[in-house]
Amino acid sequence: MQFDNRYATLSSKLFHRQSINSLPDVQGGHFNPVLAQQLQWSVAEQDDWINIINGNTQLKGSDPLAMVYAGHQFGQWAGQLGDGRGLLLGQIRDVSGKLIDLHIKGAGLTPYSRMGDGRAVLRSVIREYLAGHALQHLHVPSSNAIGFVYSHALQIQREHKEPAAMLLRTSDCHIRLGHFEWINQYQPELLTEFTTHCIQNYYPQCLQHAEPVLAFAGQVIDRTAYMIAQWQLTGFAHGVMNTDNFNITGSTLDFGPYGFMERFRPNWINNHSDGQGRYTYQNQPSIAHWNLWIWLNNLIPLAKSEQKEAFKQELAKQLEQYEQNFLHYYSSGLCKKMGLPVDNEQSFQCGLQFLKILQAEQLDYTTSFRQLSSHQYTAIRDQCLDIRTFDDFLTTYHQLRENQQQSILDMDMQQHNPIYILRNHMAQRAIERAEQGDLSEVDRLFKLLSQPYTKQADLEITEDLAPLSNDVPDVMVSCSS
Ligand code: AMP
Ligand code: MG
Repeated sequence: MQFDNRYATLSSKLFHRQSINSLPDVQGGHFNPVLAQQLQWSVAEQDDWINIINGNTQLKGSDPLAMVYAGHQFGQWAGQLGDGRGLLLGQIRDVSGKLIDLHIKGAGLTPYSRMGDGRAVLRSVIREYLAGHALQHLHVPSSNAIGFVYSHALQIQREHKEPAAMLLRTSDCHIRLGHFEWINQYQPELLTEFTTHCIQNYYPQCLQHAEPVLAFAGQVIDRTAYMIAQWQLTGFAHGVMNTDNFNITGSTLDFGPYGFMERFRPNWINNHSDGQGRYTYQNQPSIAHWNLWIWLNNLIPLAKSEQKEAFKQELAKQLEQYEQNFLHYYSSGLCKKMGLPVDNEQSFQCGLQFLKILQAEQLDYTTSFRQLSSHQYTAIRDQCLDIRTFDDFLTTYHQLRENQQQSILDMDMQQHNPIYILRNHMAQRAIERAEQGDLSEVDRLFKLLSQPYTKQADLEITEDLAPLSNDVPDVMVSCSS
């Protein structure tokens, strides 16, 4: 593994160097060897993964540091935040030469811990580990993780005492929208250097542009629109879309009370701490737009004073692209899920018609799309109360597929409609077993979610394929982690 630490070259006002505070009596939780190989870990490093994650073996070339940032949380300015329990170990190159951050979560107190204890619990670490892995294989841009360790010897107080754990996560970037907010509020003289760093390292193509900052803004907006479209198509609800949880590369970061949609309820609140429903599934596209608007305001000081007004208007123009880009990604993804021709308004409307049926009939989002892609129309119809609406939909649907190369559309459908997603009750079962010392369910889900589009009869259990029945209460997901 070769380190190429870029962040640590920035002003030391932006971080605090410190090392991992190891867990006592540490145990290995799970390890992702495929990812480790992609990141060019040597065999010796792979064999030593438990000590590496626990900080007992310090990786040569790593330079652990906690980043400071700020953010808007639930729509309100939250002031200074930062890695309160995480450390950026450094940056390495994957096999393709791409820069990847290695970040430890749950590594102990930092100067940015505020009232927190610097730790993460086994429950939340398993949830993050499996979700990052699931999204990766569903082709949703996301952080991922190499592995996690845990300790029964260190119990952490949340709603009750829980085992401590540490996760070694990877992301193409940990620079958050909130980094810019912190700089403008507390160290505005760093803004130019910091923005240049972001462009050089993450969007070097923008340097060729006459206005690199505007091009950079446009790229961040586009990447975010793409990520949100993929969330909506997958049925993923992030739960805490604060500006400190959004990065500048548009990849999913910071899993808390997230959820994958089961019965299709667009106004579903997965996060029980989100009483107002700010971060419901259906609000995600507009909240991301709001986050980007907050962020763009932090670029305005980069313009010379006489050009500020014109620059503001240019930034606003960039933001106007968000909706268009989002709709482009979302509608083409929905058409593929439907097995209908893309870039076609009728196909898109037919997709929306199908979603309305799923919503009205409270059908399972993932299973219904999969049934559609295997032409199991009666399986869906049999669950509908309003059969006439379903039949009308099906007539339109067949008309739109007539005279098309159906085998190609069907192939697209199979590749865009997973069989397996990470339902809350699946994660919950894996957590409960792990807390009893049995990691086999984590391992089973890890394997299952590695191939979400392929039937794995030998691995799956019936519960993986459906929501809990209506008489079983939803798994409660709290913000505590
Ligand atoms: P999150 O909601 O997990 O994105 O966290 C929001 C902020 O609180 C970030 O600055 C975190 O580093 C910090 N934080 C969350 N949990 C803890 C904890 N247990 N100890 C210290 N800081 C924490
Ligand atoms: Mg966070």
